[in-house]
Amino acid sequence: MRDCTKFYIDGQWVDPARADTREVENPATEKAIGHISFGSAADVDKAVAAARRAFEDWQFSSRETRLELLRAILAEIGKRREDLASAISDEMGAPMSLANGPHVGLLAGHCQTAIEVLESFEFERQDGPTLHLYEPIGVVGMITPWNWPLNQIACKVFPALATGCTMILKPSEIAPFNAVIFAEIMDAAGVPAGVFNLVNGDGPGVGEAISGHPDIDMVSFTGSTRAGVAIAANAAPTVKRVAQELGGKSPNIVLDDSVFAQSVARGTTAMMGNSGQTCTAPSRMLVPHQRMEEAKAAAREAAEKVVPGDPKGNATIGPVVSKAQWDKIQGLIEQGIADGATLVAGGPGKPEGLETGHYVRPTVFADVTNDMTIAREEIFGPVLTILGYEDYDDAVRIANDTEYGLASHITGEDVETAKKLARRIRAGRVAINGGYDMNAAFGGYKKSGNGREWGRFGFHDFLEIKAVMGVG
Ligand code: NAD
Repeated sequence: MRDCTKFYIDGQWVDPARADTREVENPATEKAIGHISFGSAADVDKAVAAARRAFEDWQFSSRETRLELLRAILAEIGKRREDLASAISDEMGAPMSLANGPHVGLLAGHCQTAIEVLESFEFERQDGPTLHLYEPIGVVGMITPWNWPLNQIACKVFPALATGCTMILKPSEIAPFNAVIFAEIMDAAGVPAGVFNLVNGDGPGVGEAISGHPDIDMVSFTGSTRAGVAIAANAAPTVKRVAQELGGKSPNIVLDDSVFAQSVARGTTAMMGNSGQTCTAPSRMLVPHQRMEEAKAAAREAAEKVVPGDPKGNATIGPVVSKAQWDKIQGLIEQGIADGATLVAGGPGKPEGLETGHYVRPTVFADVTNDMTIAREEIFGPVLTILGYEDYDDAVRIANDTEYGLASHITGEDVETAKKLARRIRAGRVAINGGYDMNAAFGGYKKSGNGREWGRFGFHDFLEIKAVMGVG
């Protein structure tokens, strides 16, 4: 059992203000793997007071002090790699290879990036007669989801540390143990008391206490658009900054000149990764109408190669995170069938032989139209939709016909054509032929959010700008 009923506040593991212990489930076995405490407003108050005290000094800490701390954290991450991976696998069902690879890799990667950015980041700039100072915003409340849990913690904690902020983290109550290990890493690396605090709990208990807190200067949130709206509304009376990284329904335009079957296969496999629980997942594949049959064959073949199963075995995907998610995904698969989409692979129910665990069959729908529920709602499961387009103008129109604008993908041989289309897509990211960069800005247009994380862009989210005039 992975029990952790204490919170990390002011450099110590302390008991919650009131006892409220909950079970955490392994989605592969449907058995309890441990317990955590659900905190309350009193715990948040205590953490905020500690963070506020720590801010007095940390805001003026030197670049070298912050770099030393980040380097120490990176070294500690290296020592706890296996623990982190096994916690992620147990609590959210990721196969060990994925947990050990990208999940923990992104934590270390963002720490390394923060170090590199901090080495040369300009915290002040003389602009003619004015000195512009980029100062830490203060105490930051961080609320994170379960799907890439360490990545989302990393995107917030490292730039906040590097810019001189102090913080209270509330990780997802569904996958909290990786965050507990992360707090142990911070402690072992020597983070000064109060600079980083961890309070576990759910949205109503701890999340709302954070978003509405009068002494928190900013909330940095990653999660669903539904929760993002509630957080922004609750935060409004305090006029704190609210940075939001929300949902997505990302198009993947397969151009006519692409190596077609291979591009469709890659897009299908990418959709299924992490059991489809990725906010940037290429969930709407757009192919030329006349190549729909070819696309069906290639996607079916790729989907059939995806092996759901025990995260500790050789499966390529594990279960989805919870019974609630499984039920929601099943409802959407049924809806796709009822709306007349062509079921090309997978379908309702569990994969054969996997009755225990929240397993979903890797599913592909083709002949989908963009007004269908499965093309509009974020499914957050291993379910791909394939839509047809007339020409590239039509492809752009369909790509943009969504309330989301997080990511998008284009596959094709002529990069100049892809670049022209990229300019017309209303989304924070366009990955051409799988392009990927740890320093690239990450964030959404429209209902996908308003902040920018990763690399130097992540630093700006946590900074205030002060103009000191008359000094030129
Ligand atoms: P969720 O919104 O249910 O929960 C996210 C976090 O918010 C959890 O810690 C939860 O306890 C907390 N929370 C929920 N309601 C709250 C409230 N009213 N006030 C304060 N806190 C509250 O999301 P989830 O199911 O954990 O994660 C999946 C969602 O996250 C998907 O929509 C996905 O697209 C999105 N996501 C976005 C990004 C991105 O960077 N844009 C990255 C990953 C996940």
